[in-house]
This record gives sequence, C-alpha cells and structure tokens, in this order.
Amino acid sequence: MLHDIGGPQSFVLEEVAAPEPGPDEVRIKLAASALNHLDIWTSLGMPKPHLPHVAGADGAGVVDAVGEAVTTVLPGQNVVVNPSVGCGACPSCLRGTTPFCANYQILGEHRWGTLAEYVVVPARNTIPKPDHLTWEQAAAYGLATGTAYRMLRRARLGPGDVLLVVGVGGGVSSAGLVLGRAMGADVYVTSTNTDKICRAIQLGATDGFNTTNLFAEDLKQEIGRGADVVLENVGPASWEQSVRALERGGRLVTCGSTSGTKVEITVPYLFFKQLEIIGSTMFDYREFSEVTDLVGSGRVPVVIDRIDNFVDLPAALARLEAGEQLGKIVLRT
Ligand SMILES: [Zn+2]
Repeated sequence: MLHDIGGPQSFVLEEVAAPEPGPDEVRIKLAASALNHLDIWTSLGMPKPHLPHVAGADGAGVVDAVGEAVTTVLPGQNVVVNPSVGCGACPSCLRGTTPFCANYQILGEHRWGTLAEYVVVPARNTIPKPDHLTWEQAAAYGLATGTAYRMLRRARLGPGDVLLVVGVGGGVSSAGLVLGRAMGADVYVTSTNTDKICRAIQLGATDGFNTTNLFAEDLKQEIGRGADVVLENVGPASWEQSVRALERGGRLVTCGSTSGTKVEITVPYLFFKQLEIIGSTMFDYREFSEVTDLVGSGRVPVVIDRIDNFVDLPAALARLEAGEQLGKIVLRT
C-alpha cells in the first residue's frame, strides 16, 4: 500500500478489506504478481495516484467473485490479468484502439493493482490462463510482452529484418528480444553488462554490444549495415547511438525514457535517411489476446529474472530500480 509518494521505500504491508467487484467486474485471488518500472514511477508520483494506492499491473490467479452482469467469466476459472483497461464504450474503444480510450486506465496506476492478495478488474480484462504456463510465467508476460508486441507491430518488424534492442535487461526489452525472434528478425542487443549480453544470446540474440561504447558503429562494423528497427526505452543516455544505428528507412520505436525525458534530433539526418521515430504505449485487447496465444503456445518464452515471495517486495523493487535484472521479477502472492 502507498500512503505517500516517497519512492519505492514508501510501500507498506497492511491488511485492508478485499475489494468488491462492480456489476461488470471480477475479483481475482492472485497466485503471482510481477513488477514493472511503472510501480517505481507510481511510487514517485509520476503520475501521482489517488492515495492510498495499490500498485502492480501484472498478475494471474483464480476468479473468486463476479459482478451481477458478468456472463463470460466464472468463479474458479484460472485467469491472467490484462492491465490495459479501456472503458469499452468510447469511440476509441469501439474502434479497438484501447490506449486512446478517453477514460483509459492502467492497472496499478489509475486503479488498484496486483501487488495484493486480491485485485478487481473488468471481466473483459481477464483471459484464460494458458494451461502449460506456470502461475509465475502467467503473471509475468502481460504488460511487458504486450507493450513490446505493439511496439514491434507499429515499427512493422518483418522476417529477415535486423532488430536492435537497446538495454536488453528491462522487461519490455527482453520481451522485444524473444518476440523479435518469433517474428523472424535477426536480433542484436545492447547492455552495459556482459552477463546480460550472454544471457540474451542464449535467448536467441545473434550478438550484443556494450551500450557505453559507440554501439551503432559496432553493429555496422559487424554486419555491414544498420538496423531496420531499434527498440528503445532508455532515452537520452543512448538516443544518439540508437538513431545512428538505423539503416536507411529504419524505424526507432520508443515506449519510455528511463534516463531522462529530452533528446536532440539532427533533422537532416532524419530526412536524408528517411527515418521514422515512433511512439508506442501499452496495447489493445486484440494484441493482448495475440500475445497470450504466442506465449501460451510456447512460441515466445517468458523471460523471468527471478521469483521472490511477496514479503520480499522491497528487495525486489531495489533490484529493479538498480537495473540488475534481465527479464521479469515475479512475486508469489
Ligand atoms: Zn474507451
């Protein structure tokens, strides 16, 4: 529970009444939850949540109660939570573009989330848990894999393309790596940590480069060309090299900026090379369903850094904040 916004150390463990589902909602008894950088941003008040607040976007568990209007989900069903909540009624929702919803909500940011024993979500924000995923895997893929999937779709990644994932340790980045492989791309990564590059190669990357070097030159020297798509969420610390790493006609797609918010763009470089810079955030219901199929069928692995117990949340957040992880940090609820 957050009572103030003093950063990750503000989380306190306490007992509250289990939330009751509204007419279109279901309550889930969570088996596992997973952390995202979003939880840290929320604890810092970026943006400020209504307090007190429960963070957490990712989770999986058993449906425990359903609202009176719910006909599609039954108590006792094993489900994964979709953290991208559209109102279902506005023009954007009716077109299927959930992230443009007039009343868009991210679970754990705009409404109480999954760092708890129970969570309440609209029934449409549950999907049956794929049978062969463990609870931890089911809890881990949602936000990061969904976000990476929309990014790669928006960047029109195709078979045979070269994909460069900058800063491979984060949840979205590691999901981008395994999704990129599943989409037939030749994937390269960057990291400041050699062990993470080795792990990324085990997960299917062709090679990796140190982010602190001129990695655009390293890539071009190794393969004789730039990347068709660069997946970015680091921002100023890597931006110039990320743009320089692009091949003519290349697309840089970003969903975040962990090292700051402002970057410089050399405009002639942008138009001469006919580059595209694409913003992306979250995903719609169809994309979440497709990602669940990809993960559930085993075509895309769930990259888990480690599994902790719920009471170890402070240490798990510290690991995330320090950027020590590769993949998702999962909590057994
Ligand atoms: Zn809407």
